[in-house]
Amino acid sequence: MTRRAETTRFAPSPTGPLHPGHALSALFAAREAGPEGSFLLRIEDIDSTRCREPFVEGIFADLAWLGLAWPAPVWRQSARMGTYARALDSLKAEGLLYPCFCSRADIAREIAASASAPHGPDGPLYPGTCRGLPSEEAARRIAAGAPHAWRLDMGKALARAPRLAWHDRDRGSRTATPEIFGDVVLARRDTPASYHLAVALDDAAQGITCVTRGEDLLPATHVHRLLQYLLNLPTPEWRHHRLLADASGHRLAKRTGAPTLSSLRDAGATPEEVKALIGWAG
Ligand code: GLU
Repeated sequence: MTRRAETTRFAPSPTGPLHPGHALSALFAAREAGPEGSFLLRIEDIDSTRCREPFVEGIFADLAWLGLAWPAPVWRQSARMGTYARALDSLKAEGLLYPCFCSRADIAREIAASASAPHGPDGPLYPGTCRGLPSEEAARRIAAGAPHAWRLDMGKALARAPRLAWHDRDRGSRTATPEIFGDVVLARRDTPASYHLAVALDDAAQGITCVTRGEDLLPATHVHRLLQYLLNLPTPEWRHHRLLADASGHRLAKRTGAPTLSSLRDAGATPEEVKALIGWAG
């Protein structure tokens, strides 16, 4: 049996230096591609307020030091805004999106005042304040320059889609339950595309056959599966890896002061020592 050539990707956001957890993620993606497949690097720099060019340079240097190689050109999401905008337009034309004028403070106030505040993977669900806004009123506010995000009307989207499933190579078949996120934001006030939209479109456009990433992002897969359906994109498979923990069992992260790959390198560590540190057996 001939196996479809595997294409995987490591897709960091250049918002800071890479840590051992990123090394695990990149090595995991490269291993999934295998010697016959393609391992791609994608720079997820849609958020211009947080992404910095020196971090992009650092990503290249750290991954090369680990012994990884990837083909050029490296896609950058900041160069793909037109594609994201077209996808948003098609969802708007189908009546699946609505503009949301709420600030974070508005949302917090509304949630505090409501009797029940259902929670999703990213915190309390959006209470739907702008969902019922008459379209003339929404158009008037947009014309007047009111800042707004675009949210997916989850109820309408689910009514449009059949029951969807996705396949995780370790966990098996999963039923998609994107409703756990409520009306997700697909374009933010300050960024014309959200993570969910950009990732679903790019994974499809780059022919990714297996999406690999940390299990902290496992819930997001429910939304990506729905977007793939709504945007007529192919469905890849997924594999989610464990997260690194420190000696006390806490997740290793930037904010907990985990060392960066470059600081380990500067202190004389070898790539093999970093692999041992993250429990990477190859
Ligand atoms: N850019 C995301 C991050 O750095 C990862 C996206 C993904 O792998 O789907 O957390």
